[in-house]
Amino acid sequence: MYIADPKMERDLQFELAQRLGFKGRAIVAHEGINCTFEGTKEACEEYMAIMKADPRYADIHWKISDGSADGTSFPRLSVKARPEIVSLHLGEEDDIDPNQTTGVHLKPEDLHKWYEEGREFHIVDMRNDYELKVGKFEGTVFPDLNNFRDLKENLNKIEDLKDKTVLTVCTGGVRCEKASGLLVREGFKDVYQLDGGIVSYMAKYPGQDFKGSLYVFDKRKVMHFEDKDKHEIIGRCEKCDTPSEHYVNCANLLCHRHFICCADCLEEPEGNHPSGGVAYCNWKCDLKWKLYTAKKNLLKKFAYK
Ligand SMILES: [Zn+2]
Ligand SMILES: [Zn+2]
Repeated sequence: MYIADPKMERDLQFELAQRLGFKGRAIVAHEGINCTFEGTKEACEEYMAIMKADPRYADIHWKISDGSADGTSFPRLSVKARPEIVSLHLGEEDDIDPNQTTGVHLKPEDLHKWYEEGREFHIVDMRNDYELKVGKFEGTVFPDLNNFRDLKENLNKIEDLKDKTVLTVCTGGVRCEKASGLLVREGFKDVYQLDGGIVSYMAKYPGQDFKGSLYVFDKRKVMHFEDKDKHEIIGRCEKCDTPSEHYVNCANLLCHRHFICCADCLEEPEGNHPSGGVAYCNWKCDLKWKLYTAKKNLLKKFAYK
């Protein structure tokens, strides 16, 4: 896939999404398009029909799921043109072009077979560390990226897998296009990437092999496909260690770290806080923020005198 003019494509996508009444977000780059839209069933079907008629989008991976009950996972519609969809911060010269260098695409069905056969392989999860806290594949070996762009610096941690079978996974398969390509370029010999990402696997094999929930970047925060009574909660409240999948951002805005905190451990309940309630990482974050705001208020008071 190659999009010659991402800015023009951005405008077309925005117009189309707006006409269909979609909310959500999309990023358009030379290497393709990555979008998550929410709309009525009819609108989604129309959108897919239009896209499928465009030969540039012939190999697009579609992922369809029920949105939130009231259809408001996203506050608005945002479509942006970017130099690249996912950045590894490798610089223009060293960047990976997934059309040239990338891992072998492995279908969810084939991965399922690998598990059943007891085949030896190593899962390298390309998501951020906080995403893995609520769910991951059994046997995941590389779970500690603070940020996707740190991948290259962290490759030494999986040096010993260079001659082994490695499967990269991420939410929807987008990050893996480049990440698996980087592994190939850095000399890993047998690199696969999970086609359509974790979400495709979970949809096919709910509650199997991938344990817990999938972190998603919208209001839902987490999702799973199995029935509620069969669902296993992997996440743990950072404060009291009880099972929880409730994410908050540290209320110290200078920190703003994303972590799991159960309802009982919140200082103020979710209520009117769209970020999930009020909680601080620890007493230091709490104290620092109170001092910071007190100082600001004092300065303000004197400025008006
Ligand atoms: Zn707790
Ligand atoms: Zn904090």
